[in-house]
Amino acid sequence: MDTFVVSARKYRPSTFRSVVGQEALTTTLKNAIAGNKLAHAYLFSGPRGVGKTTCARIFAKTINCLNPAADHEACNECESCVAFNEQRSYNIHELDAASNNGVDDIRNLIDQVRVPPQIGKYKVYIIDEVHMLSQAAFNSFLKTLEEPPAHAIFILATTEKQKIIPTILSRCQVYDFNRITIHDTVAHLQYVADHEGVKTEPEALNIIAQKADGGMRDALSIFDQTVSYTGGNITYQAVIENLNVLDYEYYFKLSDAILNANVTECLLILNDILNRGFEGQYIISGISNHFRDLLVCKDPATAQLFQVGASIRERYITMAKKCSNEFLYNAIEISNECDLNYRLSKNKRLLVELALIRLCQLQKPEGASSGKTEKKSPIEPITAKERITHKNPIQEKIPDKESVSSQTPAQDSTQKTVENSTQKPVAESNVRKPAEKAAPLKKRTVSLSGMGVSLASLTNKGEEETPDTGPATYHIGTNLFTEKELVNAWKNYARQLEEEKLLKNTMSLYIPKMLSETVFEVEVNTELNKQYLTDHANSILSFLREKLDNGDITMTIRIAEGNAIKKALTSHEIFEEMVQKNPSLQKLSDEFGLELS
Ligand SMILES: [Zn+2]
Repeated sequence: MDTFVVSARKYRPSTFRSVVGQEALTTTLKNAIAGNKLAHAYLFSGPRGVGKTTCARIFAKTINCLNPAADHEACNECESCVAFNEQRSYNIHELDAASNNGVDDIRNLIDQVRVPPQIGKYKVYIIDEVHMLSQAAFNSFLKTLEEPPAHAIFILATTEKQKIIPTILSRCQVYDFNRITIHDTVAHLQYVADHEGVKTEPEALNIIAQKADGGMRDALSIFDQTVSYTGGNITYQAVIENLNVLDYEYYFKLSDAILNANVTECLLILNDILNRGFEGQYIISGISNHFRDLLVCKDPATAQLFQVGASIRERYITMAKKCSNEFLYNAIEISNECDLNYRLSKNKRLLVELALIRLCQLQKPEGASSGKTEKKSPIEPITAKERITHKNPIQEKIPDKESVSSQTPAQDSTQKTVENSTQKPVAESNVRKPAEKAAPLKKRTVSLSGMGVSLASLTNKGEEETPDTGPATYHIGTNLFTEKELVNAWKNYARQLEEEKLLKNTMSLYIPKMLSETVFEVEVNTELNKQYLTDHANSILSFLREKLDNGDITMTIRIAEGNAIKKALTSHEIFEEMVQKNPSLQKLSDEFGLELS
């Protein structure tokens, strides 16, 4: 392996036939040569490393070949071809416009254009990264392009065709180069490996091809790098370590956990991946792609779009059978949304964690609700009923059971009011979750206002709720406080949080603002942040009320302008849905004379 030659150079194609992955295009070029229909200017556009310059060189060599083969390929034997192959031909001039983009560079080139070739018929001028030419250089080049000498052919290459001015474009024959498919890349790498005596695993070459993203030059350079790293034995494990690619096993593990609605497992896996040094965004976009791949694998027709080795494709097909289409659509949407929000998010880890939690909630356990709500709004926020049905372990871990609040499924659009309701014994007694019963209850209670909330918890708790009849024995005053005191209390609360890192981080992101003597507002950036604060509103409020000695403190949470993601249901709509699931609710509501505000 010591004498390993850089593959991109050693295996650079010398004929159109050996160019990988651009068959249609090379055939057209060969036909043009065969029919002697050569243009004076060509534009080769396409991503980097897909063969633009290589094809331009082969083209220049072929049209100058003194003894072309029957299939119109260069002979690679005549004097001209040999000169080309030894890079000493005077018939080819290359200008890299990325580094030589001034008027003088172009003038030098134009001066040479007038001189006819000594051997062969054509002089070929390749201008690489032509979009980098300065405006002045473009202009002076334009004149030559309009009236070129008969022996001059220009091949302009660019990765950004849209930056080429129309006057140039209209004078060129345009050839669009494709990204090279993973299949073609793998086949070529295998060819190189066989010739170099390198041992490979198909999945390893697949990962290299994926990483190269359609560019053969990159693929070969990664290949070389891996050969020297592995001493000539390219295994899947070696490649993912070398390229810092996340093992697909993790995606399989994650999707298994998500399908089992196992939040704890998901968060542990995420933690493991983060500890391996992967970025959150890399992970979430990987999850997105994974679900996309599963969707593609559900149908044998589209499974062909899935460019991986046979063994892993089988695993995907098997896993895809476990997922409903609806689940996959929703999962892709949730992970994609997280991916989009990632850059703007101040608490990136929380964002990814919440996405995983929401993914877990997509899988309803048997006997759960019909899923009517989910159809209406595929990305539903974390709602009280879902949390309770799923026994979300995060919630269970929270030590402060006294005040974990239940919460309405997305009350009125972007604003949600959380207020004290000591004066409303009915709502008060109903708002506690079963978990709270285990904990010693203080009589001071806090609840979310509005029917949506209290009824939401009712539906989840069933009938055995013990009514809380007695008056509150623990009284909090109506002390007036300043915004500064409020902010301090808010920070104090956040500071003492130990296990609830997510809440701690969310709270330290935002500072509350007073709207009136007892009402304060928290303006958050995302629906997820709002959700998280809402979920913990009761414990936050209990603390603030006690600390500031004012039982009327109320919190509203608002998503900053322009950040609202979805319009949620009105409280009437929520109530109607609940009644459908639990008709006794209507009776209860009538008996107590409850009304939606
Ligand atoms: Zn030749």
